[in-house]
Amino acid sequence: MHKHHRALGLASAPSGSRGAAAIAKMRPVQPVTLLRPHAARRAARFFVEKFPGRSLYAVKANPSADLLRILWEEGVTHYDVASIGEVRLVHEVLPEAILCLMHPVKAEEAIAEAYFDHGVKTFSLDTIQELEKIVRATSKDGVAASDLNLLVRIRVSSDHAKLSLASKFGAEPSDVSSLLMAARQAADALGICFHVGSQAMTPAAFAEAMTLVRDAIIGAAVTVDIVDVGGGFPSSYPGMEPPPLETYFAVIHQAFEALPISYSAELWCEPGRALCAEYASVLVRVEKRRGDELYINDGAYGALFDAAHIGWRYPVRLIRDTQSHVRPMKFSFYGPTCDDLDRMAGPFELPSDVAWGDYIEIGMLGAYGCAMRTQFNGFGVVDSVVVEDEPMASLYGAKTPRRSNIVKF
Ligand SMILES: *Cc1c(COP(=O)(O)O)cnc(C)c1O
Repeated sequence: MHKHHRALGLASAPSGSRGAAAIAKMRPVQPVTLLRPHAARRAARFFVEKFPGRSLYAVKANPSADLLRILWEEGVTHYDVASIGEVRLVHEVLPEAILCLMHPVKAEEAIAEAYFDHGVKTFSLDTIQELEKIVRATSKDGVAASDLNLLVRIRVSSDHAKLSLASKFGAEPSDVSSLLMAARQAADALGICFHVGSQAMTPAAFAEAMTLVRDAIIGAAVTVDIVDVGGGFPSSYPGMEPPPLETYFAVIHQAFEALPISYSAELWCEPGRALCAEYASVLVRVEKRRGDELYINDGAYGALFDAAHIGWRYPVRLIRDTQSHVRPMKFSFYGPTCDDLDRMAGPFELPSDVAWGDYIEIGMLGAYGCAMRTQFNGFGVVDSVVVEDEPMASLYGAKTPRRSNIVKF
């Protein structure tokens, strides 16, 4: 029963400066999540210091309690939560955090619990019905709440993003004016928010969205107190290397300064991916090789959901004790479950002599990776260990290892 743990040997791992190679050397049987708190701290400090406004962490990217505490310690005080489950979780882990319920479609019961039990005052909406729901759910004895921050979510293009968020949420341009005027009546502070889509590859995405914010403010002729540019800040993946985040911040700052809003208006953003992508990677073992297909012990029902379902590419490197001098070649992966869907097309570039028993580190899985894991088919069990080496890619100035290379134990 304890055989796996002995084989993993993680309990006896040295606590001093160890990296992915030291963990691979222990030949773990199950996938191991390699956590890099220093990388998450660096990302949080970057946003806290350099974004020209307030940064809310979008919890759905990775709801790990350890990560929430790390971000809090580095100065992230506001959290973008989408469900009552996330509200309860963050309120429990960080009782003093300020929670903003930014899902534009909520159960009335969830709004009431968030407001009365967890002190949530900030809500987003994209219809009059949702506004009515919020007003009803936060009223007491027929008296409407007077401390609400209401953010109207407008629809913007996802054209510059790798993952669209354009079709599901966001008020139509023709409805925005009446919605802003109605929300103004119910709100203490009124805001406008949007989401340009995840992994926006150019700051122009934000510049274009800000022109729609400008049109909305002018069209409704209301006083706007908060402009929330949402998430979408990119991380670095193979074939998706974005410009520096500072250029995004500069474009947003410039557009914000040019808006017809009061001097005291606040600028917010809601990064998910950018705050946690570098926080975790997963160490997997190759259980079988068939030509250019590698059967590994994590997959579509584990941390590789996006790799399987939307063809997301992650950096990979081979970690083993013998040096390899062969050329790299392109591989696809099969995950451990029994169905054909559990396949990640990649391509993932690795030395051409990868073999059964080898270990591969798959990087940048801190956002929308570890958070997606299920127990399907009995394969969801993983170990987690803190490592101190650098992530496989970084937008925060870390000296990252060469991509697609081989690392010796
Ligand atoms: C998912 C989401 C985010 C985070 O998006 P990223 O692309 O991970 O930065 C922010 N705000 C809202 C409303 C979201 O749904």
